[in-house]
Amino acid sequence: MPTPVLFDMDGVILEGPGTVPGTYADAADAALADLGVDPTPAQRDSLRQHGLEGVRDCCTALGIDPDEFWRRKERHASVRTHDRLRSGERGRYEDSDVIHDVTERTTTALVSNNRHETTTFVAEFYDFPFDAVRGRDPTLEGFRRRKPDPYYLERTLADLGLEDGIYVGDKPKDVVAGREAGLETAFVRRPHNRDVELPEGTTYELESLWTVPDLLEE
Ligand SMILES: [Mg+2]
Repeated sequence: MPTPVLFDMDGVILEGPGTVPGTYADAADAALADLGVDPTPAQRDSLRQHGLEGVRDCCTALGIDPDEFWRRKERHASVRTHDRLRSGERGRYEDSDVIHDVTERTTTALVSNNRHETTTFVAEFYDFPFDAVRGRDPTLEGFRRRKPDPYYLERTLADLGLEDGIYVGDKPKDVVAGREAGLETAFVRRPHNRDVELPEGTTYELESLWTVPDLLEE
């Protein structure tokens, strides 16, 4: 079988480096409203950040379950993100069309730090027939396991029974995680990373995804 290819999502398939600023703040507000609590301004600020810091302490002080808050926040962030994709506010890079060709020739996967619900949505919305799709679990632990941790890459390789492959990403942490998982790495140049130094250990530097098929070895 030709070399399997695993694709990052944000900045590789979806335009721009990541989820639009404000999404997580709005999602936190919606989760707090669901749970019917009234945080202090400082608590709200803390919970609106895209991170784990302060989440347990604030939720405990408010008498809500941090895991439940987090699950709801992730869910609301997914709904908002999917709306932006459906409306075309956020698009995909044209060269992601190559995924159809690559998928016909070898095993492929989508492995992202983004929410699992959103990776699944993107694969279905654009009709990309990946063999596996994996994003972060909607838990505090799931957030901690994001790249550069190789956890989700390793889990995907195990699910597919693979031991090698190429991980295509747009950030240095993609190269770190890919190497940790025992993969070759491809760093694709996009407008947002044009001036980033090529990460140490990158196997291939790509000007677009159109050349991914050239990397497949029989
Ligand atoms: Mg990315």
